[in-house]
Amino acid sequence: MSCRNAIGIFGGTFDPFHLGHLEALKHFEEKFDFEKILVVPTGIPPHKMQKSDVSAEDRLEMVRRGIQEIKTAEAWDFEIRNGGKSYSYRTIEEAAKNWPGKELIFFTGSDMFLSLHTWKYPERIFSLAKIAVFSRTGTDFNDLNRQKEFLRKTYRAACFLFEEKPIAVSSTEIREQLRNRQSFEYLPAAVAEYIKEKGLYPPRNDDGRNHPVY
Ligand code: ATP
Repeated sequence: MSCRNAIGIFGGTFDPFHLGHLEALKHFEEKFDFEKILVVPTGIPPHKMQKSDVSAEDRLEMVRRGIQEIKTAEAWDFEIRNGGKSYSYRTIEEAAKNWPGKELIFFTGSDMFLSLHTWKYPERIFSLAKIAVFSRTGTDFNDLNRQKEFLRKTYRAACFLFEEKPIAVSSTEIREQLRNRQSFEYLPAAVAEYIKEKGLYPPRNDDGRNHPVY
């Protein structure tokens, strides 16, 4: 891609950060010429309620450990520091302020991309950043193309669609797996270690209550 020394923005709840995120991040890195990629855990995401009691600091630390092998990636605590609801337009505006003159490229999985026009101030997002969309299992490429065309006509948005094969996993599935005492599959090793160390996502007892230690 022609964008040189760009700044990438990869936001998410990361509750927890998993191999699907890591793989998508690697694909993102390969597609552009990045100076750095900011991986930004949300404070409180406006479009989904947080579904665990894991703290923002622990989510941030899981991101830090999960992205270690990607040299250009760094965890950015901007949304967590700000507290309250996190809106992507604010994060993108802050990045534009901090890295003036740099091309900004905003990562989104295909599930999020389909609702991007309903986010707060989509026009501000599209005026400051290009959008890179990576497949997620269950989304139809025709729907993505239609959305890309709609955003181009409505907001002059520049969106790139990529068909990389995703790893079919979500944080929701992993939380369930951990709580049902199943496996640490689909987690980067350093994230699995951290979860064990801190006793996050404790397994449920038969009575449905959380058990404190593994
Ligand atoms: P949850 O199950 O709690 O909703 P999630 O697994 O969807 O979480 P998020 O933290 O919401 O994870 O995702 C952050 C970003 O990463 C989003 O843009 C999302 O579309 C993308 N993403 C998440 N999982 C994958 C995956 N397996 N493959 C590709 N992209 C993914």
